[in-house]
Amino acid sequence: MSLHDMEEGTDYLCQRCGNCCRWPGEVAVSEMEIDRIAEFLGMEQGDFITRFTAVRLNRTGLTLISRPNHECIFLDGIDCRIQPVKPAQCAGFPNQWNFPGWRQTCEAIAVPRDGRGREES
Ligand code: SF4
Ligand code: SF4
Repeated sequence: MSLHDMEEGTDYLCQRCGNCCRWPGEVAVSEMEIDRIAEFLGMEQGDFITRFTAVRLNRTGLTLISRPNHECIFLDGIDCRIQPVKPAQCAGFPNQWNFPGWRQTCEAIAVPRDGRGREES
């Protein structure tokens, strides 16, 4: 995964606009993530896989499925129904991975990396 359009020493704080959950594309889920999400939803792992996942286009694993309008199946308004256990791909955007032009649609706010801890303490 690569990073683009990042300022040095800066973190981007998610504003939960939900835009990244509406982009067409796959949301990869590992076996461990599937276990966690299924447990969170009170479902059997097999039922979860059948109902909410599909084989990725490159056939290397599973993705969460999307609705016909391309938004993620777990998007509820602007909220994620599985927020506490969402996949690493979701949690890692945009600070661990992103793509050219991501800032045009992501509403995350740039903050100095050192300032983040102060805000949370
Ligand atoms: S799992 Fe949640 S955070 Fe990830 S794309 Fe779906 S709605 Fe968005
Ligand atoms: S697009 Fe950016 S600000 Fe909006 S939910 Fe995704 S990461 Fe957060």
